[in-house]
Amino acid sequence: MSDDRCTETVFDSSGWGHSSRCSRAAKVTEDGKGYCKQHAPSSVKARREKQSAKWDHENEGRRLGRVVNRCGRVALSALTAWRKGDGMQRDVDDAADALIAAEAAVEAHDG
Ligand SMILES: [Zn+2]
Repeated sequence: MSDDRCTETVFDSSGWGHSSRCSRAAKVTEDGKGYCKQHAPSSVKARREKQSAKWDHENEGRRLGRVVNRCGRVALSALTAWRKGDGMQRDVDDAADALIAAEAAVEAHDG
């Protein structure tokens, strides 16, 4: 007997953890089982990878933001010392270069 419903088990919306078979029609066959488009292992995996890529991107954005902050503080203290006359211009230049590079990395990341 052919079963043309999706193989996936889904939880209903009662909040009691009741589960039942997905009621959608099986549109694709993977690993010998029928799935609806949403539950096909390949599309579940694709969604998960897309989500994980999004999280990686957001994490990287936060990390770059912290780098800019740190470089900004270093640049500020180098500049402050230099203006007081007890710093070196080279430190200011280095700090400015680092800050510019960090900011460019943020812009490249944000697209
Ligand atoms: Zn399904």
